[in-house]
Amino acid sequence: METAQLAAGIIKGERRALARGITLVESAREDHRVQASALLQHLPRDRQALRIGLSGTPGVGKSTFVESFGMMLVEKGLRVAVLAVDPSSSRSGGSILGDKTRMDRLARAPNAFIRPSPSQTHLGGVARRTREAVALCEAAGFDVVLIETVGVGQSETVVAEISDLFLLLLAPAGGDELQGVKRGIMEIADMILINKADGDLKPAATRTCADYAGALRLLRKRPQDPDGFPKAAMVSALNSIGLADVWGDIETLTAWRRAQGFWDRTRAAQARYWFGQDVRNALLEQLETPKARAALQSFGDKVAAGEMPPSVAAQSFLQGLERREGSKS
Ligand code: GDP
Repeated sequence: METAQLAAGIIKGERRALARGITLVESAREDHRVQASALLQHLPRDRQALRIGLSGTPGVGKSTFVESFGMMLVEKGLRVAVLAVDPSSSRSGGSILGDKTRMDRLARAPNAFIRPSPSQTHLGGVARRTREAVALCEAAGFDVVLIETVGVGQSETVVAEISDLFLLLLAPAGGDELQGVKRGIMEIADMILINKADGDLKPAATRTCADYAGALRLLRKRPQDPDGFPKAAMVSALNSIGLADVWGDIETLTAWRRAQGFWDRTRAAQARYWFGQDVRNALLEQLETPKARAALQSFGDKVAAGEMPPSVAAQSFLQGLERREGSKS
């Protein structure tokens, strides 16, 4: 199919076209990359969804939250897309969202689109694929794009750099509540949601929520936040409790950021950041070719043998890279 035709299908909101488009941007094949670039350039730039990042450790209730929260939004008449960033999927062989049984209502809703994460090898690839999938969902007219990730390593930072706002889901804890959450993650969260605030877990959830509310007050105030943000709140994804309030808070936050200009500025800064990342990744990829590796090895040998100073060898190596690059075109 022509990319222009595929783009037209996506813009009309056709699910199959969207799914095909995402498959295309996920592919690492050279010819697919060329088509994906063409596809992205055919997309309108004036459609924006609210991009919500969501993170939490396995078992905290992310799938349950996405199902309940997503259904609530769909019932409000909004179109909701769900994407996953799963840096661990290549190791485990599985994927988050792969188990759609906990999202079966949302998966069947006509106004929802759920895309499990593909298995990927490195976070750079996952990030690019996710950004492009988000762009396709926006072009397809979705109002909200939920980007879910497991709380491991760098994936939260990646998701935060793709999202307009970031939700951190936590479980009620006893004892050393704050220990499990790294300060850096707290600093990127716009809302910390203590899930499972129901039944026997309610008292623990109330304590945990108060602890995090206290910890958030101690953080430096960020310019992009209205009063009261970032905030901690209790929810029960299972019983759909507190979700309407979360949506209300999200609307308050985004309206304020739009009015103050933070929304546009953040998106611009994110675009600039990803441009820089893509350049870096492309340069790093150039080091991974067999020729480059052989050259690195042989210059390395010379440097180790004292035949060349490291800086001179580095310069010669880089000049060789440029020549090879130049001769390709
Ligand atoms: P994920 O691994 O973060 O996606 O977590 P899941 O959504 O798969 O949920 C893990 C377990 O926690 C499941 O057994 C859920 O039924 C349960 N769970 C999720 N949300 C809630 C909640 O609000 N209250 C209670 N009591 N259990 C929940």
